[in-house]
Amino acid sequence: MGQFPVHSVVIAGAGQAAVQAVTSLRAGGYAGAITMIGAEPVAPYQRPPLSKAYLSGAMSLERVVLKPVEALVDEGVTFIPDTRVLHLDRMARTVQASDATMHGYDALIIATGSHVRKLPVEGADLDGVHYLRSVTDADGLRPELVAGRKMVVIGGGYIGLEVAAVARKAAMEVTVVEAMPRVLARVTTPQVSAFYEALHRAEGVTILTGTGVVRLTGAGRVDGVVLDDGRVLSADAVVVGIGIIPHTDLAADADLDVDNGISTDEDARTSDPRIFAIGDCASRPLVHYHGRRARLESVHNALEQAKLAAAAILGQPRPVVEPPWFWSDQYDVKLQTAGLSGGAAMTIIRGDRDARRFAAFHLDGDSRLLAVDAINAPPEFVVGKQLIARGSKVAPEKLGDMSVSMKQIAADPH
Ligand SMILES: Cc1cc2nc3c(=O)[nH]c(=O)nc-3n(C[C@H](O)[C@H](O)[C@H](O)COP(=O)(O)OP(=O)(O)OC[C@H]3O[C@@H](n4cnc5c(N)ncnc54)[C@H](O)[C@@H]3O)c2cc1C
Repeated sequence: MGQFPVHSVVIAGAGQAAVQAVTSLRAGGYAGAITMIGAEPVAPYQRPPLSKAYLSGAMSLERVVLKPVEALVDEGVTFIPDTRVLHLDRMARTVQASDATMHGYDALIIATGSHVRKLPVEGADLDGVHYLRSVTDADGLRPELVAGRKMVVIGGGYIGLEVAAVARKAAMEVTVVEAMPRVLARVTTPQVSAFYEALHRAEGVTILTGTGVVRLTGAGRVDGVVLDDGRVLSADAVVVGIGIIPHTDLAADADLDVDNGISTDEDARTSDPRIFAIGDCASRPLVHYHGRRARLESVHNALEQAKLAAAAILGQPRPVVEPPWFWSDQYDVKLQTAGLSGGAAMTIIRGDRDARRFAAFHLDGDSRLLAVDAINAPPEFVVGKQLIARGSKVAPEKLGDMSVSMKQIAADPH
């Protein structure tokens, strides 16, 4: 065990990070009590398919579920669904749940994720306006995917673009409206944004960048989107994907440090040594980007922080930390991205953009690799991730030369 004996772990939240915490605690030999309290009425499930195969109908609910309730019971977990953790008493080391029960803990893991940012305009509460965070949201959106109807997607981030791809495949007329000058502006460089804009246009999507939404119109049900340049798009359905807000209230109310997410150290520990925060709700130091902290929104981050927290609770060595990574599926294009491209001084393109198989390597001013966006290019992703982990400087001319294999670059990057 860690610096204090742990016989009882409470997990607030029952999503991707929470389930991994259970798995890692048990795999690490922890035999004590685990209570997992989740706000949703269903077994824990994964979210990525909600904007991809589950939304299109190609994936069943059973395959989306991460762990059936029986499996949790087999692992000795007391799973309390449909219940929120409302309050945390650090002195008494208890949490109070919305079903009026109290739960004592030796270690508490906050894995409460995030909720969607709402569109702050008139008409945003009309029928036919959708957000996408939960299975219920996806179930509500799927019947709107009807050939020939018009969908307006507000927000050109990954989720908005993935929904646009699914809607296009369902033969809808799709328009994406993005307020920033380019899609994916928050997460990648102009070259990769330009690729995605061209991809969606080639697939028949209308992309409007640098365009705000002033109002949604309709009597009861949405029928139009009024843009800030005065144009009005007619719409049979609207999907809003403009970002998420972390669930930090529980921590903030208990005076834990919060800075965008719940602040944690390299072991996912908050400013209270008995309390850990993992996944979308937490901000963490980025070991590969000295001195930087961030709140990451990805499956990899949720799993990794869960493993870090479990190891710290059990007093075991810290698992190896990887550079952040993420994926996105749109049409026949699989993006795998590793690292963070913020602060990049140059971007090297390797491969063929028109053939939809290439990688964008983002380097800092010292030719150190910061990030790679690999489009249908697994070797570039795998080697790029290794080079970021090693903090390697890489010769830009080698990266851009397809006659030098990624294996050769891994062996001799300079
Ligand atoms: C549509 C969609 C597509 C995505 N696609 C990708 C992708 O392709 N690749 C990728 O890497 N990532 C993707 N993500 C992001 C990824 O799913 C999240 O980063 C991940 O789910 C975070 O895990 P988490 O456990 O922190 O949060 P969640 O999985 O959201 O789980 C948190 C849970 O806690 C519950 N909760 C909240 N407050 C309380 C409370 N007070 N008490 C009890 N329970 C509470 C919530 O209801 C929720 O069930 C996608 C997300 C969405 C929504």
